[in-house]
Parts: sequence; C-alpha cells; structure tokens
Amino acid sequence: MPKTVPDLREFIEGVRERNPGQEEFVQAVEDVARDIIPFVADNSRYHEAEILRRIAEPDRIVSFRVCWEDDKRNVRVERGWRVQNNNAVGPYKGGLRFSGSVTESVLKFLAFEQTFKNSLTGLPMGGAKGGSNFNPKGKSDREVMRFCQSFMSELYRHIGPDTDVPAGDIGVGAREIGYMFGQYKKLTGRWEGVLTGKASEYGGSNLRTEATGYGVVYFLREMLEAADEELDGKSAVISGSGNVALHAAEKLIAEGAKVLTLSDSDGFIHDPDGLDEEKLEWVKGLKLERRGRISEYCEQFSGADYHEGKAPWGVGCDIALPCATQNELDKQAAKNLIGNQVKAVVEGANMPSTTEASDAFREAGILFGPAKAANAGGVAVSGLEMSQNSGRVSWERDKLDGMLTELMQDIHRKCVEDGRNDEGAIDYVRGANIAGFRKVADAMLAFGVV
Ligand code: GLU
Repeated sequence: MPKTVPDLREFIEGVRERNPGQEEFVQAVEDVARDIIPFVADNSRYHEAEILRRIAEPDRIVSFRVCWEDDKRNVRVERGWRVQNNNAVGPYKGGLRFSGSVTESVLKFLAFEQTFKNSLTGLPMGGAKGGSNFNPKGKSDREVMRFCQSFMSELYRHIGPDTDVPAGDIGVGAREIGYMFGQYKKLTGRWEGVLTGKASEYGGSNLRTEATGYGVVYFLREMLEAADEELDGKSAVISGSGNVALHAAEKLIAEGAKVLTLSDSDGFIHDPDGLDEEKLEWVKGLKLERRGRISEYCEQFSGADYHEGKAPWGVGCDIALPCATQNELDKQAAKNLIGNQVKAVVEGANMPSTTEASDAFREAGILFGPAKAANAGGVAVSGLEMSQNSGRVSWERDKLDGMLTELMQDIHRKCVEDGRNDEGAIDYVRGANIAGFRKVADAMLAFGVV
C-alpha cells in the first residue's frame, strides 16, 4: 500500500519530540518542511523513502571536551562539536563557530541548512557545522592559539580532505584557521586541504574572504534585475560588521548604493551621508584587525549617530541585509521595514529572519532572498579552494570572481525555476528549498536505504 504523505504538523511534532529544547533546529527544519512536504506529495518516491526525515537526522554528532590554560594559568573547560549532517553529494563541508551562544541546537540547525546550501552551489559538498561555546572576545592571541590547538587535538580524527572539510564562521577567521591548520599538520604529518579559508601563503584561495559578502550582492543584483530594478542609487541598511557585512558593504558601495548602517552586538551606527570606501577601510581595520567596537565609528566620523542596544531595522531604506546572526530580525522589525517601503531583504547571515518575519516579507510581496541561496558564495569559493588544493594550483582573483558571479547567477536561476508560482511571482524561499532538496534526495535514492 502506498504510504500517505506526512502531515506538516505531525512531522514537526515528531522533530520536536526527538530534539527536545532544540528550538533553532526545529525552526530550520520547519522552514524547509513547509515547502518540501507539499513537494514530496507529488513525488511519491521521495516520501516513500522518508528522505526529509532522514536529512533531518544528522549522520552523526561528535561532542568533546576542550581543555586549555588561560594567561593567568587557570584551567578552562569548554565543549566542542562537529555535526556531520549529510554527505550524499560530497564530503561534509561547513564552518566552525566559536561563540558563547553556540549550543548543539544552533550547530544542528546550521549543519541542516548547510546541506541545502551546499547542494544549491552545484559543487560536490555535503553539509556539516561545528564549533564551541568558547568566546574569543577579549582573549589574547596566545589564549586563542592554545584553545585552537586543543580543539584540533580532538577534531583531527574526525575530518580529512575526502571526509569532512571545516572552515570559518562567526569567531573563526584566518587567525583561528591558521592555528588549527598548524595543529592538524603537526598531528598528522600531512599538508592537505583539510580546512578552507586558509591564508594565501599556505593554500588559501584568492577571494575566499570577500566571497560571502560579494556573493550576497551578486544574488541581490540578480533579484533586482528580475524585477526590473537596479542597485545604483539604492539605500541599504546592513546589520553586523564582520566579514560578511563589510564585504557586502564594499560591493554595494562599488555598485553605487548608499550604505547607511552597520552594527555589532552592542548597537548600531547610522551615517546618513553613507559610508564611502575610505570610511569602510577604517571600519575593516577596527573590526577585523583591532577587534574594536562599532561605536568608535562616531568618534572618528562626524555626522553619524550611535544607537546603543538597538538593531538598525527602523532606519528607512530600499534594501536590508541582515548579516549578523540567527533570529536577529523579528516580526516587529519586518513590519518597520515594510512600513518604510523596503524593496528587497537579502540574508547574509544564516537564518537571521524569524519565521514570522520571513512570512511577513513574503506576504507583503517584498523580494526576499533566503540565506541558503544568498550567502552560498562563501562556501562555493571554499569548494573552489578544495579543487585548487587537490589540483596543486592557485587561480587568479579575476578568474575566481567570474566563477563566483556565475555560481550566484546559477543559484538564482535554480530558485526562479522551482520558486515561480502560478501568478508568475518568485518565491525564493520555496525555490531554494526545493532545488537544494532535489539533488540530495536523488543521490540518497540512488544509495538505497543506508
Ligand atoms: N560558514 C560559512 C557558511 O555559513 C562557510 C562555510 C565553508 O566555507 O565551509 O556557509
């Protein structure tokens, strides 16, 4: 007898019961299931093989103790994880996050999302995520080094260039990747492409640092073009001031848009004149090198205001790019943006909009680019870094920028193909979910029940 199609509510209740207290994970699964369950209803081979249920159960989760000694000789104990969600289409791939807010639920949602995102790139990469509740803020360079070495002393046995290739995420940049790569090499005696986001001196790819932020803007450009709009002259509100936010800002400025805001976990700055290249260079030094706070912008440049403890979503703009962290943009923030006539909202961070916020944008007919499509440029260039490492080659920046542009255009095309509704409007969330799911699902069907 053919199996009946699962009911969304029952499916989600099952996920909730099996993952108690893991709200972020349940949210990410529900956001996907809402599109996939109706889709599998018309594709019996997928629901008979329980494909969605299987993708929503990580292949494995490794959790381990990380001990390190701080500068005052105190012994510190943190927890590390690697969530290997799915390797149907390629080796596990996804970043490492070091932040006090990391929990198993957060890493499970990120690994689940990564599975669809990596599939959308068209490159052979499965989905994973990892990290630790270690908070690098305020730690000395030596403390970060000792932590990274201890973290890798366990992680190294679970990863490898053909099994699982971690990279950076919040709190993990070139410095941390350097320390972890050094420790992996020391432990295994092998120089191999086991991490991406490396510095150029030891196998890093040109453009990897810029790729997520640039890719967000390339995706936005495609969305605007499909709606007969252009970037030039548009005003933009950005949250965050890390790698993604600052490189998205850089590309927006180059494309003739006016960037009005940036933020960090303490508050946001609003510069009504807009940031120019010079101001942005200063912020890059502040945030990426000196590790300062965004409030210092107002001491440096007159005319800007600082809003402590607030997010920038009340500032009027044509374009909003949430590039900080998950669930940073809620229903009220969405209402403010819609009331201020925002035209497009494109996610640079992973799952920055709550479900209610993303529903509000879609109902109001606002162009909404979900993270798994819009911010895939970072992991896509990581995939190209893996290819360069195994081919023992290094490609020029211009070549990689051309490849990144084409990859983002291709992801946009896939979202349009699977996301166009009967009235001709494009639902990018649905398009990204279905296109990302299909490739993984077909690979899993080919393997049988394993
Ligand atoms: N952490 C990034 C992401 O969310 C990049 C992962 C990678 O390069 O492997 O996609």
